Amino acid sequence: MSDLATHNIMYLPGVGPKRAELLKKELKIASFEDLLYHFPYKYVDRSRIYAINEVSSQMPYIQVKGKITSLKTMGEKRGQRLVAKLTDSTGTIELVWFKGHKYIREHINPNHTFIVFGRPTLFNGVINIVHPELEKLEEAQARPLGGLQPFYNTTERMKSHFLNSRAMFKLVQNLFTTYTGKIPETLPAVIIERYKLMNLNEALRQVHLPPDARVLQNATFRLKFEELFYVQLNILRLRNQRTFNLKGHVFEKVGTQFNHFYRQHLPFELTNAQKRVIREIRKDLGSSRQMNRLLQGDVGSGKTLVALMVMLIAIDNQFQACLMAPTEILATQHFDTLSQMLKGMDVNVGLLTGSTKKPEREVLHTALQEGTLHILIGTHALIEDTVKFHNLGIVVIDEQHRFGVAQRARLWRKNLTPPHVLVMTATPIPRTLAMTIYGDLDVSVIDELPPGRKPVQTSHLFHNRRNELNKFIIKQIEEGRQIYLVYPLIEESEKMDFKNLTDGYEYMTRVFPQYKVSMVHGRMKPAEKEAAMQKFVTGKAHILVSTTVIEVGVNVPNASVMIIESAERFGLSQLHQLRGRVGRGADQSYCILMTGYKLGNETRKRMEIMTRTTDGFEIAEADLKLRGPGDMEGTQQSGLPFDLRIANLAQDGKILQLARDAAREVLHDDPLLEKEENRILQKQLTKLARQKMNWSMIS
Ligand code: ADP
Ligand code: MG
Repeated sequence: MSDLATHNIMYLPGVGPKRAELLKKELKIASFEDLLYHFPYKYVDRSRIYAINEVSSQMPYIQVKGKITSLKTMGEKRGQRLVAKLTDSTGTIELVWFKGHKYIREHINPNHTFIVFGRPTLFNGVINIVHPELEKLEEAQARPLGGLQPFYNTTERMKSHFLNSRAMFKLVQNLFTTYTGKIPETLPAVIIERYKLMNLNEALRQVHLPPDARVLQNATFRLKFEELFYVQLNILRLRNQRTFNLKGHVFEKVGTQFNHFYRQHLPFELTNAQKRVIREIRKDLGSSRQMNRLLQGDVGSGKTLVALMVMLIAIDNQFQACLMAPTEILATQHFDTLSQMLKGMDVNVGLLTGSTKKPEREVLHTALQEGTLHILIGTHALIEDTVKFHNLGIVVIDEQHRFGVAQRARLWRKNLTPPHVLVMTATPIPRTLAMTIYGDLDVSVIDELPPGRKPVQTSHLFHNRRNELNKFIIKQIEEGRQIYLVYPLIEESEKMDFKNLTDGYEYMTRVFPQYKVSMVHGRMKPAEKEAAMQKFVTGKAHILVSTTVIEVGVNVPNASVMIIESAERFGLSQLHQLRGRVGRGADQSYCILMTGYKLGNETRKRMEIMTRTTDGFEIAEADLKLRGPGDMEGTQQSGLPFDLRIANLAQDGKILQLARDAAREVLHDDPLLEKEENRILQKQLTKLARQKMNWSMIS
């Protein structure tokens, strides 16, 4: 393939210096190889010609055949358009042009039969095709391609320089006439054989020039498989390297603290899922390798308790533990919860956040270094280099998507032997994505909520039902419950958002003079924020008006209503997180999504999903489908190791599984890819990594 990669696109017939410049700028196509890997984004079946009376506006692209029976200019000024009637033996359809009238008038001839290609739409009760492709019958018959016509993404700039999808197709055709060599294979023969894959040379040809749907499918399968295979191979090999190189602390015993807590302090029976997960973690801790485990569990599934029990195992083995949370509110809450649960036990817990005062901080530092402090809970402040442990055995990171990979790595450096790492997240990650992004972590899942929880009832209301909502709020508060009211606040629209928030707060105090309303947002000083939050936590405030600072982790079991204002502005996973703040007690809880009337299709879908299900995994899958993987929360920072050009994580789960199996088989024999027969793999991995790096430096 190095061969094709070194062929400058400029020298492809039909390109030249100007177009080469454009291709490079707009689509990063610099070589023959780049063009080959610029895959069509769709195909249209041009083997079939429809009779005009068969055509409906529901159809995607279609072809019809007929003669032009009239041609008129209609409308005025900007609405001016050229309208032609195309007629075959079954009926008539309208063709419409808003520009290029002169060209069309010159080329349309009533004696000619045309093949017309385009997307039918319904306008004023008449089916028409706007800006169709017109081809004389003789020309169409001379076209080499009968089957599927590929469509290529181009940009506005390219189009204005006549490099549209058709022109791209022409270039690809030129490439195959110019380059007659065989494109070298990039997968080992054993894999090709075992998974019955098309060879690369053929696959690249057929994906651009497919004679029929079946061949196309085989070609795409091969190319997707390859992409996913290399992603998996890369991740799994890294994991091998890590486990080979990093020795971990061995926590061999479960001792007095753990057992004492389990027998005397556990406030409730563990769920089966919690028990299983603790077993999985214990196994890692006892092996001699460093644990790197992702603990997924929906909001309210009881991850904190798991974290505590795991930290007790560390203490039983004479190690210290730390628990890191993304916000000060959350760290404080963890500190309170754990201190409460450990009351009467011989375990010392400390809290370190950005607002810990210097004298307190110094006390903590000393106790940490002497080893008398067993568990340290905190925010980012834990990462600072001044924080030194006597013997750090395990790090638990809560709500991991807020922490970057680099930050995690800094924690590791706090010891000669890296501590075990447990990353906890309530953002369920679809399996396919987890396998790709966190493929180097082991995954445990708490897939069960503690007993007695009632699913939160969710409704979607438009603003006109606010009075009704207010009555409902009163009813709930009179029953002794508390209410969250959340506003969006994002940097881009911070001023407006902030005004909405304070307006909302004023509105609530005006409408509910009989109740206490508290407000929390990110601009407050930590102490103010803490005080306002405490009012709500202790039940002194009935209503908490806030931004999403409460999104993560906060636990007020008595709060039973979550009202989300401008819900259309939140993503699915954020909505799900917010909803997870209620439904933590025994009472029926409610989530109310307030939106304006005008909603896009995607927003409507989001509201529909939220009202239909409370299953975090289902929501995560839906989110992936709606937004695509690049956008998923928590994925940007880690990113994919290589760009996916044809595979789609939301749709290609099955192929991914196969590709992962294949990568596993290879690594089973040759964990670090050192064998001669795997040279091809090693080479391809290096090449992909270099490609990704080059592009990220340019763009
Ligand atoms: P999350 O997984 O969202 O972090 P938490 O750890 O905050 O969830 O737990 C949510 C609530 O469930 C807490 O009030 C906690 O005390 C309670 N809880 C945890 N485990 C159990 C259990 N096994 N049985 C009953 N309640 C539990
Ligand atoms: Mg939590």
